[in-house]
Amino acid sequence: MTSASTCLPLVGQPRATRFVETWLAGSEFPPLLFTGPAGVGKRTAALLLAQTANCTDPVRQPCGVCRTCRQVAELSYPDLRLLLPIRKPKPDAKMEETAAAMLDRYAEFALGQSQPVSDTRLKIPIDVVRWLRIEMARPPLLAHRRFFLLVNAQQMNAESANALLKALEEPQSQSTFILTSSRPTALPATIRSRCQTVRFAPIAKDTICRWLTENAGASAADAELAAAMSDGSIGTALRFLENREEFLVAPIVDYFSGRLGSSEAAVVAAIDAASDAPPAAIAGTLLFLYQETLRVRLGSTSVYAQRNPGIIEANLGREAVYLRRALKFLLSRTYEAGTNVNARLFNYSLLTTLKPPDRRRLSA
Ligand SMILES: [Zn+2]
Repeated sequence: MTSASTCLPLVGQPRATRFVETWLAGSEFPPLLFTGPAGVGKRTAALLLAQTANCTDPVRQPCGVCRTCRQVAELSYPDLRLLLPIRKPKPDAKMEETAAAMLDRYAEFALGQSQPVSDTRLKIPIDVVRWLRIEMARPPLLAHRRFFLLVNAQQMNAESANALLKALEEPQSQSTFILTSSRPTALPATIRSRCQTVRFAPIAKDTICRWLTENAGASAADAELAAAMSDGSIGTALRFLENREEFLVAPIVDYFSGRLGSSEAAVVAAIDAASDAPPAAIAGTLLFLYQETLRVRLGSTSVYAQRNPGIIEANLGREAVYLRRALKFLLSRTYEAGTNVNARLFNYSLLTTLKPPDRRRLSA
């Protein structure tokens, strides 16, 4: 394999990409530790690396289409093993059962999937590490270079970490370990010191925005808002596009519903209660709520409105013209929300411009 033919299609991570390409062209393969915020491409880079090291295309690696590349992408390649945090096994569970419970999660982590939100209650149990060591003892089935990928490696208890350390200390002529972690300091220093660290930076907003319009079919306004919400993570931006409800800011939902009234005091109270949320999340919340209101106003169904009957109601008395104007206003502020705006001023202007109807007057 030559580095000249390698070009990892990794978005917005030039430094990590250069490192990985150099690493591949070298002759020694120490364990790697990929660090950086969630959703910036750590797992993707690890899978691309496994593809590149084993791709059968003579010219372009990874080609993405050969059998090996496809199997790696869908995590069915026999010489690629992921170790994932799982729910605590029952005390009497056999090692094979615990390993099987983890293998069941593989589909969620395939290449191109936005990774599930990490649940810190899940842990990589000791039996999974024992299973790994049995796998390690066997020669690879097909691969030049076999990969063991530990996703969210910080979610390990001391017992698992000790067993992993022993595995890392065993000579590995054909196997490579890659650990990914958004909180590497939570890993024991003994493990960190055995790995070569590769830092993944948050991805630039413009890069995310362009990627979303070109690859995820997002409209320009959606892409801008999602990029602003993303914290430099394509994974988070995709999750936002898939499920906006997860990103709604509760105090802003309350304000919109009219429950807090529309006085100056209500505006300030809502802004204070939402002070942890970035401006993009405030704009995104209002945008979502106005979109759903307009949908119901025009006679379409809104699953959100059905599930949350008290929230849209107050605004249903508004004319569709008003709702459209509100949406246009919010869309025009979307870009600004992703820049370094003064959060308080920005939020104040949104909330005073889009006051909810006065409920007392409505019910009177
Ligand atoms: Zn290939």
